[in-house]
Amino acid sequence: MRFEVITIFPGMFAPAFAEGVIARAIRQGIVGLGVHDLREYAEGRHRKVDDEPFGGGGGMVFKPEPIFSAVEAIRASDPERRSRCILLSPQGERFDQSIARRYAAADESLIIVCGRYEGVDERVREHLADEELSVGDFVLTGGELAAMIVIDAVSRLIPGVLGSEESAARESFTRMCSTIPCIRVPRSSAE
Ligand code: SAM
Repeated sequence: MRFEVITIFPGMFAPAFAEGVIARAIRQGIVGLGVHDLREYAEGRHRKVDDEPFGGGGGMVFKPEPIFSAVEAIRASDPERRSRCILLSPQGERFDQSIARRYAAADESLIIVCGRYEGVDERVREHLADEELSVGDFVLTGGELAAMIVIDAVSRLIPGVLGSEESAARESFTRMCSTIPCIRVPRSSAE
């Protein structure tokens, strides 16, 4: 399983995956994580990645060209590998455990586009993204934290990532319809 993240803040990812179960999986090569600085795909001396929205509207959005170039370069670096391009957006489909399971089971890498400012030019959603995902009904300042949530939730479902003591087979959302109740931490013991 490989994740390829496109962001203007690549430095946010190393600390987030420096410790814990996912860090171990990355060190062991079970999970691959590539972090790509969007500015490296922008033209011009100032490597500008933002612009006014195509068709109007307030604020600034990411221009489409650097994002298309970044995705093209990632795909060209490993043409044999199938990949799915995910655009993170509060307006996307709600990410949940069933989507995490689908990604973990698919034999393809996930290219994750993190927006900033007022989001990403519409042409990315229309012509490049395979899916648009939201991690919840709230608005973050950028897609990086959302990407980390997706990477964490998908990675831990990859065989070999969790130790037997941490098995994903009997946990919340896995047996929702069975007679075994979901594991929930009572409020009193969480406080
Ligand atoms: N103007 C946008 C709107 O009203 O929907 C919000 C843009 S938000 C400030 C900037 C970026 O953060 C988005 O492009 C997206 O990548 C990310 N983001 C914010 N909230 C998110 C959420 N709930 N789920 C996934 N990504 C989110």
